[in-house]
Amino acid sequence: MDLYEYQAKELFARHGITVPPGQVAATPQEARAIATELKVPVVIKAQVKTGGRGKAGGVRLAPGPSAAEDEARRILGMDIKGHTAHSVLVEQATGGFEEYYAAYLVDRANRTLLAMVSSEGGMDIEEVAATKPEALARIPIDATSGVDLETARLLAARAGLPEDVQDAVAETLVRLWEVLVEEDALLVEVNPLACTSDGRVLALDGKITLDGNAAFRHDHAAFADGSDDGGLEARARAKHLNYVKLAGQVGVIGNGAGLVMSTLDVVAYAGERFDGVRPANFLDIGGGASAQVMADGLEIILFDPDVRAVLVNVFGGITACDAVANGIVKALEVLGDARCPIVVRLDGNNAEAGREILSDAAHPMVRVVTTMDGAAELVAELAAA
Ligand code: GDP
Ligand code: MN
Repeated sequence: MDLYEYQAKELFARHGITVPPGQVAATPQEARAIATELKVPVVIKAQVKTGGRGKAGGVRLAPGPSAAEDEARRILGMDIKGHTAHSVLVEQATGGFEEYYAAYLVDRANRTLLAMVSSEGGMDIEEVAATKPEALARIPIDATSGVDLETARLLAARAGLPEDVQDAVAETLVRLWEVLVEEDALLVEVNPLACTSDGRVLALDGKITLDGNAAFRHDHAAFADGSDDGGLEARARAKHLNYVKLAGQVGVIGNGAGLVMSTLDVVAYAGERFDGVRPANFLDIGGGASAQVMADGLEIILFDPDVRAVLVNVFGGITACDAVANGIVKALEVLGDARCPIVVRLDGNNAEAGREILSDAAHPMVRVVTTMDGAAELVAELAAA
């Protein structure tokens, strides 16, 4: 779950990272009232779960309460990269500061945690990485040893921060690491991390992605707003389906996480010969493959506009293939029509009987293939067609 800036700052503050005083407002009048309580000037900031708000006009300085009200009126309802600003953060403005960048994240490609610290804060970090790579320190962090003060000082030095701010920034970097670990975050990012001329270090912006798998350990439920959380994945969760959205075109359903994982591999492999089509999702329907579960799974997958063909790959065990086949037939009745071809591979317990049920039903969109490789080949071909 991605947090809004104001929520990220709430977690920063809990761990001793300094953030400017401020509050969130849903109306221009509320923004005015908050600005009246704060020292002016204030900044009015669109709360949307996307970056680049500054460039889009979603971050504005207001000299006083009535300007705060005007700016809030302008920003509320604003569309920023497809996200509507339903609230604004009204914050005491910070003056006279240098902008740096700090983040920790899970680096999946290199199977490690990664610290990124830069002396070039405030702008897109991708741009810094591309145009001035020496200004961006990227250092893998061992999860078991983490970031202590010594490591943090090294990070600050390697990023080329001025020597007189390195110690103060290092303290904040240690606290930021605490946020990642203690809140079970997959990403924490501060851009800009401000160092003021009077020696303070503040998080002026904040981005946090929490690991949903650890939600039970926390009191983070209040952060969920339901309005823009995940789309397909949220719908799947509501139906208790184990679904992960991927970037390809072939919908995949299977029973058992191991079987689904290897199905993703054979589909990606077969796809290399058909326009490079790739799996569109992971969906494990588990042991039971009732008509309802199958219908729920197919519905989620077919709802994904990227999906151009579906592979159902089931190995019958305790749930026999004839039951799965009946599930597929009934699921297609429940759904009405399938909008793209469905390739089915059944093997294991009662596979013959299952295939017979599907060929008797003769659904125009269903194709039965006996081997996993054959099924992957056909579904890739159909998705590329
Ligand atoms: P983003 O564009 O979505 O990343 O939003 P930010 O919160 O990072 O704000 C964009 C820019 O606005 C920052 O890089 C700062 O330069 C500036 N900014 C943000 N907060 C303040 C503030 O309190 N005072 C001043 N003077 N500038 C700010
Ligand atoms: Mn920012």
